[in-house]
Amino acid sequence: MTSHNSIFNLFTIGIGPSSSHTVGPMKAARRFLLEARGHKVFSRAARVSIELFGSLAFTGKGHGTDNAILLGLQGEIPSEIDPDSIESTLQDIRANRHIRLLGEKPVPFSEKGDMIFHFKETLPYHPNGMRFSLYDTRNKLLYSDIYYSVGGGAIVSEQEAMAETPAIETDEAPFPFSTAAELLELGRKHGLSIHEIVLENEKCWQDEDTIRERLFDIWQAMQDCVKRGLHSEGILPGGLKVQRRAPGVYQRLIANPENSLKDPLTIIDWVNLYALAVNEENAAGGRVVTAPTNGAAGIIPAVMHYYARLTPNPDQEGILRFLLTAGAIGILYKKNASISGAEVGCQGEVGVACSMAAGGLVAALDGSNDEIEHAAEIGMEHNLGLTCDPVGGLVQIPCIERNAMGAVKAINAARMAMQSTGAHKVSLDQVIATMRQTGQDMKTHYKETSLGGLAVNVIEC
Ligand code: SF4
Repeated sequence: MTSHNSIFNLFTIGIGPSSSHTVGPMKAARRFLLEARGHKVFSRAARVSIELFGSLAFTGKGHGTDNAILLGLQGEIPSEIDPDSIESTLQDIRANRHIRLLGEKPVPFSEKGDMIFHFKETLPYHPNGMRFSLYDTRNKLLYSDIYYSVGGGAIVSEQEAMAETPAIETDEAPFPFSTAAELLELGRKHGLSIHEIVLENEKCWQDEDTIRERLFDIWQAMQDCVKRGLHSEGILPGGLKVQRRAPGVYQRLIANPENSLKDPLTIIDWVNLYALAVNEENAAGGRVVTAPTNGAAGIIPAVMHYYARLTPNPDQEGILRFLLTAGAIGILYKKNASISGAEVGCQGEVGVACSMAAGGLVAALDGSNDEIEHAAEIGMEHNLGLTCDPVGGLVQIPCIERNAMGAVKAINAARMAMQSTGAHKVSLDQVIATMRQTGQDMKTHYKETSLGGLAVNVIEC
C-alpha cells in the first residue's frame, strides 16, 4: 500500500517518451476498462472511443499518446510492458483494425473514427484530459468516464478531480509536512535529516527492507537505462531525424582517458553523457524511470551517476539518501505547484528535476538540511520561466539537451549551497510559489502545446 505522500509516486519505472502523455494515458485506458468491468458492462462492449483534449490533443501524436492508449486498452501496464513488443502489437491493431480490450475481448477499432483529437476544447480540471466511452452492438452508450493525466504519470478520474482531493493528503505519517519550512522545522525539532524523516513516513506504508529494495530497484533501472543509451545508435523515431549522440560521446570519452587529466571539465562531458543516454532512450520509447517526469528523466540519474562515479567516497547509503531527499523535494512541488509541463511549462519538469537532484546530491554528500533546502532553491530559481515548446511535439528538442543542462546546473547548485556561509534570501517555499505563479501567467502556447517557442521557429524536417 502506498499513499499520495509516498516518494514512490515520483519515481516509477515505465516507458518513454512522456509520463503525462504516454504513461498516464496508458494507465487511464486500462483503468477505464477495469472500471467498466466492475460496473458489469465490459462483456457487452462492442466499440470503444477515446477523445483527447488540450495538450493531449496538441502534442499527443508526437508524445505517443495514441500508441499508449491502444496499448492500455489492450491491458498493458507501463512498468511491465516489454518495449520490444510495442511495435508489433501496434502494427497488429492497425493492420487488423481490431483491438483486444484488456487482452481478451476483440472489438473493431478504427483509429480515424474512434480516436478523436479536440484541438479547441479543454476539460475543466487540467490541460491533459481524456474521455473514454464504451458502446454496445447497437452503438448505445454503455459507460463513459473522464480522466486527467496530472503529471509524472499520475492520473485522476473526473470524480476524484471534482472531489478536490488534495494532491497529497495528510495521512497517518509520523512527520507530515506541506512546506519546506515545516520539513526543516521537523528536522530541527526531532534531530532528523530529511532522508530520515521521509524514511519514517514511508514506513507507514511498507517495511524498511521493502523501501530499501524498491529504491535500489529504481537506481538499478536508472543504471540499466544509461547503459542501454550508451550503446544504442541510430536516429530517434518521430520524423525529426534526430541522431542519438550518447554512443558517439561515450566512445570518444573512453578512447581518450588521459584527456581528463588535462581537462578537469571532462567531468561535465560525463554528466552530459549520462543525461543524453537516458533521454535518448526515453525519446525512443525505451524503459526509463519517471523522475519526476519522463521528459526530465535524465537529470536525477545523471547526477546520481556523478555521485556514484565521480565523487570521492560514494556508497549505497548515499544513493538512498539521494533518492529519499529528492523525493521529499518532489513532494513539495507536487503539493504546492505542479510537475506537469502542460500546467506550468518546463520549469515544472526540468526545473523540478534539477531542484530535486540538487537537494538529493547534497544529502548524498552528507550535507545539512539547510544546505539541501538551499540547493533545491537554487536549482529552481534559475529555471523559473522555462517554457515547454517541444519541436514537432516530440520529446527530443529541446528536451534531451535540456536534461544535460539541468544535470550540470543541479551539481552547481549543490556546490554553491555547500560552499555558502550563511542564510540565503530566497527560500525554497518562495521559489516554489513563484514557479506556480509564473506557470499560471505563462501563455498556453508555452505549455506543451507546440504552438510557441522553438516549436514554431524550428522547421520539422
Ligand atoms: S520541453 Fe520540457 S516540459 Fe516540454 S516536453 Fe520537453 S522536457 Fe517536457
